[in-house]
Amino acid sequence: MHVAHFVHRSAQRYPNRPLWLSLDQSISYREGALRLNQLANALLGIGKQGDRVAILSANRFEAYEVYLAAMNAGMAAVPLNPKSHPSDHLFALNDSGAHFIFFSPEYAQTLATIRPEVHGVEHWIAIGGEPETENSYEAFLSGGSTELPPITIEPDSLAWLFYTSGTTGKSKGAMETHRNLLTMVQQFRQTLLADTNEFDVMLHLAPIAHGTASVGLAHLAAGAAQTFPLTSSFDAEKVFELIQKLKVSASFLAPTMVQMLLQSKAAHQYDLSSLKNIIYGGGPMYVEVLKQAIETFGPVFSQIYGQGEAPMTCTGLHKSEHNLNDPIAFSRLGSAGREMPGVMVRVVDEDGKPAPVGTPGEIIVRSDLVMPGYWNRPDATSETLKNGWLHTGDVGYLDEAGYLFITDRIKDMIISGGANIYPREIEEVLLQHPAVAEVCVFGVPDEQWGESVKAVVVLEAGRTASADELILFARDRMASYKKPKSVEFASSLPKSAFGKVLKRELRQPYWAKVTRAV
Ligand code: ATP
Repeated sequence: MHVAHFVHRSAQRYPNRPLWLSLDQSISYREGALRLNQLANALLGIGKQGDRVAILSANRFEAYEVYLAAMNAGMAAVPLNPKSHPSDHLFALNDSGAHFIFFSPEYAQTLATIRPEVHGVEHWIAIGGEPETENSYEAFLSGGSTELPPITIEPDSLAWLFYTSGTTGKSKGAMETHRNLLTMVQQFRQTLLADTNEFDVMLHLAPIAHGTASVGLAHLAAGAAQTFPLTSSFDAEKVFELIQKLKVSASFLAPTMVQMLLQSKAAHQYDLSSLKNIIYGGGPMYVEVLKQAIETFGPVFSQIYGQGEAPMTCTGLHKSEHNLNDPIAFSRLGSAGREMPGVMVRVVDEDGKPAPVGTPGEIIVRSDLVMPGYWNRPDATSETLKNGWLHTGDVGYLDEAGYLFITDRIKDMIISGGANIYPREIEEVLLQHPAVAEVCVFGVPDEQWGESVKAVVVLEAGRTASADELILFARDRMASYKKPKSVEFASSLPKSAFGKVLKRELRQPYWAKVTRAV
């Protein structure tokens, strides 16, 4: 059993249902499964099991097809995030020792500039190129047999080398095995995506280098169709149009994408009634934003908490628990839900002892979801995996019913006058102010207190607010020592390729002259 097997299984059950769907094209599960075999056999014709297959592509079905075909060939997919810097691509290509790279035309030029420094890639294959050209995707695919590749894929072999975006430091390749991904798919199917079936249509808006590929696997297991956006940039109106025309029912959205959909204010002009499951996660979702999202799109949101080191489903908050009218459910909207079946999630203090209910500590996880380690990084692996437990680097607490509240990343915690302050709590409060569109809170050096709280705020278009007003707003809603001591305004916040706010970039200049790691 391996991950691409889901497509073959669904092809037996739903041969004529669409696998790849767009406004002008549909490829059925039967045909799609044969294409996966062709691609896998073509890969095995010039490579071998265990090779790494990189993908740098706009969001189109072939990119996901290569991802699955690599797994079908017992090779590992290495999807690169198109939004990353070329130096990140170079790092991932050389670090992974990829043998193949598949790329779409938009990235041919980027790759040409780094190509002289790329060491191991032997095969450069152009997706979307003219079929008759030598390195074209369709020519490559048609060279392979449609038979299932004659290989055995062990569950603990590498399926996906996931390069973390480096939100907190240097990027590392988390090794996700078939077992890790199979566990994740089963958890999705048992819980958040139990109602997914062959009539669903999933829209991939995030790059396949991230969570959308994982949520897509759960949809493949159910025989659902997969579709990709019309444009490579994120255009909310185009997204709504596609949802309406293809009756899209599901998607994975990073919290910033939910915010972008809300900011467009055009949702009500479209028929979005086909939406059934929007999975969000990969970063903090603020309650204020979630509330607006539920009011706008309906009760279709389910949350997941995971990381590249334990893909996606460590905990989950089902859409039925997103109830704005039930005070208990509402008070848990800021949580990431409860542990998934087959996952142990604990919160521990600095000595590794379980923290009491309600007390923050490091979140640790034990499960078949957890990676065997980082690629070529035994040092980082032994810091992260201890006695079978994944140390997530996230701080959180459990309530008496087992709901996990993620307060922040350890590296983002502010220690002021000996008290631990979690920026997310302050961000949640400032976002309740009507003039605040986005906010980032972090610690800056303070002679008296060690660190003090600073907020950088992006205002809603056409709204104004002063720093003093926002500080008073926070002071009225939280313990005084947590309120920001200073507020600055910016037109935007720096974000990673996955849309996460790069706190360390905002924090760095303040700490540049101080001897403390940031
Ligand atoms: P790096 O590990 O290099 O800093 P990264 O942020 O890209 O990079 P990912 O594996 O993409 O790493 O992200 C996982 C992190 O995202 C988690 O450790 C956690 O901090 C955050 N996260 C994921 N899901 C949630 C959630 N539901 N709520 C809050 N934070 C979340």
